[in-house]
Amino acid sequence: MNNFAPLGIFGGTFDPVHLGHLRLAEEAAEALGLAEVRWIPAGQPRHREAPRVTAAHRLRMVERAVADNPRFCVDASEVAADASYTVPTLERLRRELGNTRPLVLLLGADAFAGLPGWHRWQELLSLAHLGIAHRPGFPLDPAGMPQVLAKLYQERRSADPAALAATPAGRLCTFAMTQLSISATQLRALLANGQSPRYLLPSAVIDYIDANNLYRNTIPLADGS
Ligand code: ATP
Repeated sequence: MNNFAPLGIFGGTFDPVHLGHLRLAEEAAEALGLAEVRWIPAGQPRHREAPRVTAAHRLRMVERAVADNPRFCVDASEVAADASYTVPTLERLRRELGNTRPLVLLLGADAFAGLPGWHRWQELLSLAHLGIAHRPGFPLDPAGMPQVLAKLYQERRSADPAALAATPAGRLCTFAMTQLSISATQLRALLANGQSPRYLLPSAVIDYIDANNLYRNTIPLADGS
């Protein structure tokens, strides 16, 4: 593999991982020319509610979901952490991979809209590019964005994904993925109600959920480690 081909970085709670995540990563790899996508399940994010199941379970579900895709790999390093912040994660990846490899942080449009609430978010573009997927219900329109985000969007956006391979960081590309109105929130609700989650997430993940009796009771776990 070309060590300088862009590497996709896909972080998330994955509580649980579903076909929206998988199609995002697959279509990003094709649209943005990524050699590989590294999935990084979050430990205990502080900027949102505690995940419903432990980080160890969420990691194992992601491992099962991506196992048959040679372009995907899983990075377990945040699972043991108390908190997951994207900028320190990218700094760690830079220490591991060096400063020349293009890194593309993959985000859905909803996550992009929330960027100004992230820890040290203004440093993101010095460490990686952004690859932003369209998501139903979250239009990518600068007119509807907070001013700081609209400015970033307009200044850094490249229409041509080839721009991502030309520099290690600093550009922003959007891509149109198959629109799948699937969310982990919806899946947790289905499972808690005893309804079928089939065809919304991989069967290997459903088997894992069933075997470990996840999401079926409605009492949230206090410990998301
Ligand atoms: P929740 O419903 O618990 O908020 P989620 O389904 O949004 O979860 P996350 O783990 O929070 O999943 O998302 C990880 C990343 O995947 C985020 O960047 C998010 O925008 C993106 N994403 C999740 N689902 C979709 C989808 N259906 N289409 C496009 N992007 C998605």
